[in-house]
Amino acid sequence: MKNAVIVTIGDEILSGNTIDTNSNFIATELKNIGVKVVQILTISDEIPTIKKALKYAFEMGDIVITTGGLGPTRDDKTKKALAEFFDDEIALDDETFAHLKTYLEKRGRSEILERNREQAFVPTKSTVFQNQYGTAPCMMMEYEGKLSFSLPGVPYEVKPLIKDQIIPFLKNKLNLNFISSRIVSVVGMPESILADTIEKWELALPNNVELSYLPIGTRVKLRLTATGIDNEVLQTQLEEEIQKLYPIIGAHIIAVKEDKIEKILGEILVEKNLSISTAESCTGGELAKMIVSNPGSSHYFLGGIIPYATEKKIQILKVSAETVAQFSVVSEEVAHEMASGCQYLFGTDISLSTTGVAGPGKGEDGNDVGTVFYSIKIKNETVTKKLYMPHLERADFSNFVSQKIIQDLVEILVHQK
Ligand code: ATP
Ligand code: MG
Repeated sequence: MKNAVIVTIGDEILSGNTIDTNSNFIATELKNIGVKVVQILTISDEIPTIKKALKYAFEMGDIVITTGGLGPTRDDKTKKALAEFFDDEIALDDETFAHLKTYLEKRGRSEILERNREQAFVPTKSTVFQNQYGTAPCMMMEYEGKLSFSLPGVPYEVKPLIKDQIIPFLKNKLNLNFISSRIVSVVGMPESILADTIEKWELALPNNVELSYLPIGTRVKLRLTATGIDNEVLQTQLEEEIQKLYPIIGAHIIAVKEDKIEKILGEILVEKNLSISTAESCTGGELAKMIVSNPGSSHYFLGGIIPYATEKKIQILKVSAETVAQFSVVSEEVAHEMASGCQYLFGTDISLSTTGVAGPGKGEDGNDVGTVFYSIKIKNETVTKKLYMPHLERADFSNFVSQKIIQDLVEILVHQK
């Protein structure tokens, strides 16, 4: 297996202004072709630092991918560092210049600034991959049988360069193994207990199959990754190993194919031909957004509302004012009535509701920050639960709660089978 090191260059990442999404994307794409990312480095825009990082990266990996610092401004120094590191000159590349000219003309810029022309200068020993979505080309260098690729920093330029050009190039050049993954979603079992329970199975896994534990909320995703020369053999192998899990933890498994909880839900709702709607207070639409983020959700999601003010819960969802007065708006009873009202309003088989205090201020009725009640109503049956998550910030709170509700619903539907 080939090893790779990713180097993201830019002070704005180090300062926390930009979240490094490039390495996440690149690592995933490399993993899919069987290249193992052994390190991800983030470094500042300084020539000596970039050179040091390149040296280190080549020690650790067979493939080095850098992003950032290739733009036309003074703070973009990667190219100079690259030339110095490889003891090379930078010269105008005619093909790259022609590409750049066409690129700019297509965007109505007939006059080419010197700054832009400079972007067609590349190290003379480099192989250029033209950038279809920006002005900085990607440059490949060979070094003692190893390869480096230097890409611009802008994510929408990085993605197509990696996907359409570098990955096919690497696949072809390196004669790579197939790599295949499956995700088993386990609920109702903390990671440590799960690890103990399946220890024997884990130790007996074939050598070419790797297992990782990926906890997300209250679910643990077991990722099985198999590597080998025959893709069909890998598929069979993974399926066999997953089947062996059923006698051990079958009751806790909610999915063995899809990874994202909203996708898992989507598959089940389509299979069971069930429709769904949402009435959200403290999650402010996040639950609906999560459901809708699955392509094909129009087949089962009919709609959602956000009755944030208490009076709107009463007016629109027909929550009774007495219930609110007696139990307060953040209560099991109100969540229950919201779900019923929502189900009636949208005419769906299933409805979900949330009412809680996301914080940071205390709730109007004195409920503690981080308290939420949610209801899952399926036909005539309602399940209402309480969560208390005082440590989470607003955005994380809403995300956690939404994930949890969908997960609970999936769990109920899976066990109904
Ligand atoms: P440009 O031509 O835009 O200057 P560049 O190759 O010089 O491209 P940078 O200047 O390093 O790249 O970054 C351009 C923009 O791309 C940054 O402002 C930032 O928003 C984004 N970016 C850079 N690196 C990353 C990264 N690792 N992850 C996500 N976004 C990034
Ligand atoms: Mg730049």
